[in-house]
Amino acid sequence: MDHLWTPWRYQFVQDPQPAAGCIFCDKPAEHRDQQNFILHRARLNFVILNLYPYTSGHLMIVPYSHVATLDQAGPDVRAEMIELAARAEKLLRAAYRPEGLNMGLNLGKCAGAGIAAHLHLHVLPRWPGDANFMSVVGETRVIPEDIPTTYSKLRSGWT
Ligand SMILES: [Zn+2]
Repeated sequence: MDHLWTPWRYQFVQDPQPAAGCIFCDKPAEHRDQQNFILHRARLNFVILNLYPYTSGHLMIVPYSHVATLDQAGPDVRAEMIELAARAEKLLRAAYRPEGLNMGLNLGKCAGAGIAAHLHLHVLPRWPGDANFMSVVGETRVIPEDIPTTYSKLRSGWT
């Protein structure tokens, strides 16, 4: 059997191309960080507010690479994600005084991922009773703070 070696394809697999129409690829490429509510750009990941927050201060840590899983993201991206998560924890505690935080990955549509094709780590402050009856009964979330206010509150901590 002959083998056709294609080492250039390995590089392609290592560095996935941005996907058209993927907001996690498009937003950092637009370089309008304030309008897009990008709080911080690190080397391999960026930090962005969730436009449909579960609670005030709900942000996401997202690799620049269009990858769907932690496994595909690679060790450097994963390590930086956790460092950014620790920084987010500290800043959210200082800004919102929550009683707890959720951090989570939804891998795949059936696991609850809104954008399953592009990995993102949710970080959100939690308070007792924040999942109120409006969320449970009415599928409506009551967010006490609008997104631009959250942005200006958290932005300074990331510079
Ligand atoms: Zn993407």
